[in-house]
Amino acid sequence: MADHLHITTPESLSEDAQAEPSLRPQRLAEFIGQAKVCSSLQVAVEAARQRREPLDHILFHGPPGLGKTTLASLIAREMGVNFKATSGPVLEKPADLVGMLTSQREGDVLFIDEIHRLRPIIEEFLYPAMEDWKIEIRLAEGPKAQTMTMKIERFTLVGATTRFGLLTAPMRARFGIVQRLNFYPAEELADIVRRSAALLGVRTTPEGAIELAKRSRGTPRVANRLLRRVRDYAQVKASGHIDVDVAREALRLLDVDEYGLDEMDAQVLKTLIEKFEGGPVGLNSLAVAMGEDATTLEEVYEPFLIMEGFLKRTPQGRVATPRAFRRFGYTLPKDAKTQGSLFVEEG
Ligand code: ADP
Repeated sequence: MADHLHITTPESLSEDAQAEPSLRPQRLAEFIGQAKVCSSLQVAVEAARQRREPLDHILFHGPPGLGKTTLASLIAREMGVNFKATSGPVLEKPADLVGMLTSQREGDVLFIDEIHRLRPIIEEFLYPAMEDWKIEIRLAEGPKAQTMTMKIERFTLVGATTRFGLLTAPMRARFGIVQRLNFYPAEELADIVRRSAALLGVRTTPEGAIELAKRSRGTPRVANRLLRRVRDYAQVKASGHIDVDVAREALRLLDVDEYGLDEMDAQVLKTLIEKFEGGPVGLNSLAVAMGEDATTLEEVYEPFLIMEGFLKRTPQGRVATPRAFRRFGYTLPKDAKTQGSLFVEEG
């Protein structure tokens, strides 16, 4: 079964593979930010421990790189149980899960990343496991094959998804705890940068850390990645010290946008401006013009653009703000004034 054990996406794997010391927090108390999520998890963990019961099944949703996998493993650690991880797309048939489920001890955590990508046949196999602690095992192939019901230990399934809207209703309903992770404000990201810098043995000034934080797209994974790259620059050019000038210069050389926008963010805004004169345009038309699907656009890309004031959702559709026009060097369309209320927040 070992070949079905994967820790989340290849992206985070490769990042962790090169992590000299791991940057992942080792205790829930070390996890920076997401205060509401953390405190409700702490309460749930404490209550379950007092009752000596496994934790309820937990679902984390929100954009990539915000700490879903990290929280899942921290929960296992706080509960003092084993942690196994797999992900939706690698599970092809129920048999791929049998070994994991039958080898679990009471209360163990099974983490399934990208849980919205589970095949229906796997979902159906999981329902009785999650609810009644039993699984149906087919004894042979073919339609007439006998099945056998097997009891398993009570366990905690922690699911993660970037696409809450794609999760089936019956699956959603089986999670007792559902938590959304949001982008991190710059001050919290700066704390994460400082913590990671200390682990990597790089000195940063408070301003240097804030500069990195501001360009990290609200995302700890991005902050850690930028820190590593800026560290290289600092090591070669600035005796290992990251102050605001070193950070700026390194990020300029790395072509990192001053607002933290990535390529896809830029494409959303440019499509909106170039093909729809800044909107308003319906989500689906925008998605079609980009060759992207509407839920990805809505759940993965829009939240950051909205938070940063580049895009607005209005009853008429999506609208690019003046800030977005300026970012890409466009002038506002002439009738922008008549849409006045859409363009309230300048600056
Ligand atoms: P997700 O599962 O949501 O894609 P991960 O849990 O893999 O995100 O987190 C990505 C990286 O960011 C991890 O390597 C982790 O070290 C770091 N990270 C995430 N959240 C935090 C946090 N709150 N504090 C410190 N580091 C964090």
